[in-house]
Amino acid sequence: MANLQQRLPENVPGDFFVDSTCIDCDTCSQLAPNIFRDHGDQCSVYRQPETAEETKLALMSLVACPTGSIGATQKHDAHVGIDAFPMSLAENVYFCGFTSESSFGGWSYLVTRSAGEGGNFLVDSPRFATQLLKRIEPLGGIKRMLLTHKDDVADHELFRGKFGCERTMHTADGARRLGVEKVLEGEEAIQLDADLLAIPTPGHTRGHVVFLYQNKFLFTGDHLAWSPARKTLTAFRSVAWYSWPEQIRSMEKLLAYDFEWVLPGHGDLNHVAAPLMREHLQRCITWMKTR
Ligand code: SF4
Repeated sequence: MANLQQRLPENVPGDFFVDSTCIDCDTCSQLAPNIFRDHGDQCSVYRQPETAEETKLALMSLVACPTGSIGATQKHDAHVGIDAFPMSLAENVYFCGFTSESSFGGWSYLVTRSAGEGGNFLVDSPRFATQLLKRIEPLGGIKRMLLTHKDDVADHELFRGKFGCERTMHTADGARRLGVEKVLEGEEAIQLDADLLAIPTPGHTRGHVVFLYQNKFLFTGDHLAWSPARKTLTAFRSVAWYSWPEQIRSMEKLLAYDFEWVLPGHGDLNHVAAPLMREHLQRCITWMKTR
């Protein structure tokens, strides 16, 4: 729970605030960009919500914040924020909210599918929060848990214990050490279900994997994200823990695939038509080679 005594001075006066425990994950500024902004190395409220919809977004940010750094001085119905998750992004694809501090507020996604299609899957791990579990259960639980890389595994064991989901991860990121059930190897793409492909993308980490669903939704972990500033796709050289040249090579591999959505763990998501997304990807690769 945020502490009013630690309210950051960058917050504008009023009801909602961010305190000094903020770890600058940018979840709030992505979820409610009209209310929260990154003022440097932390986020703060730069405009108080004025409408019911804006208040809902502020409450959703409060729920999604990994460190409980967002607070309000007035009384609000917390369920307005809690019940908004999982938040529908498109069709059967949801943002889970409830980010985890151990994955630095990385975003995780839920995809609902029928049993015949392979059942629901989760991409990376949200916080193991009772309120979220209560919302996932009636949606059919979780059949698969796809882990893009070792930084964003958070509460994977608890989800495995609760739902019996099969976890999927690459051996080069320590899948065996973590006790993962489906261990990926090599650099070739692996068909997990008829509509679901795992594509190894070493670079950020050695065993990083992106997951392509329906040739439309690409879950990119920390490999690839949208840059609102440059209005195109981007990657983060400063956190290419394994190898930047390898990450460029992995990015080039993605030119062979169609996708319309980029859904990252960190950074902004985006949706454009597949041909335009490929142009952005090519632009990103060209830009990466100059870094
Ligand atoms: S969601 Fe929380 S930790 Fe992340 S930037 Fe906002 S206030 Fe900071």
